[in-house]
Amino acid sequence: TLVIAESAADLERQATAAPAALATLEARDVSCWFGDRKVLDRVSLTMPAGKITALIGPSGCGKSTFLRTLNRMHELVPIASLAGEVLLDGQDIYDASVRITQARRDIGMVFQKPNPFPAMSIEDNVLAGLKLTGKKATKDEKEELVEHCLKLGGLWNEVKDRLDAPGGGLSGGQQQRLCIARSMAIKPRVLLMDEPCSALDPTSTRVIEETMKTLAEEVTIVIVTHNMQQAARVSDQTAFFLASHNTPGVIVEYGDTQAMFENPQDPRTADYVHGRF
Ligand code: ADP
Ligand code: MG
Repeated sequence: TLVIAESAADLERQATAAPAALATLEARDVSCWFGDRKVLDRVSLTMPAGKITALIGPSGCGKSTFLRTLNRMHELVPIASLAGEVLLDGQDIYDASVRITQARRDIGMVFQKPNPFPAMSIEDNVLAGLKLTGKKATKDEKEELVEHCLKLGGLWNEVKDRLDAPGGGLSGGQQQRLCIARSMAIKPRVLLMDEPCSALDPTSTRVIEETMKTLAEEVTIVIVTHNMQQAARVSDQTAFFLASHNTPGVIVEYGDTQAMFENPQDPRTADYVHGRF
């Protein structure tokens, strides 16, 4: 949309308020081993800018493992080894020229179990990641950022009157929304979410689902969920993963979410979508 600036100050405001351009993340032939056991076999997937991509499939098929390859989390696991490329707007995050801290900043992660800093205030939890970026911000800028991020997490209205209360005093669902706000404060280009609602009650789940469309206006989202209704409700496209005892995880089918749920192409996807395994 075209917005006409009324003054130089307006122009400047528009320039600083503009979110970073949305980024596409692309995995190319990603394989992963734990020791000599191969758990992912040449997985390729494009996660387009500003879209929500859901990863579904039975437990143990490699969804979390794949998600972790997308922001170099496996570098914390000594027995893990990888092959393939992960391109953020065309740049391989595993390239020797990319620092791991930069990759983690660009590609944020929200985990299954909410993990705010419990003794830290709600406000400081949101701002915690800023220290990583080394960017200085004024008090006003920080206040604005806290409000914006808590709104993105769907938590603002519930906590605006007690921003100095400890994060650990919130309910589980609120803590998870605080974690989303904290992730967004460092302005990641991609947000990875690993079963973000599976530890939450249905009401909190619904609130998070409702915030996701707004979130996707600022960040490319990849969500792992074993809840197929959730994938159907929130995602634009879905990748169905499958593995067996002796075969590593692969993507069996990938496509537009609605189409995949209504008309799966692979019989194994059909079985899964219809709850037959
Ligand atoms: P999902 O998230 O789809 O349930 P995971 O990615 O967690 O599946 O697991 C894929 C496979 O990799 C499983 O067989 C699991 O046991 C194995 N695995 C996951 N993490 C590790 C690890 N740190 N060390 C060894 N094996 C692992
Ligand atoms: Mg998992």
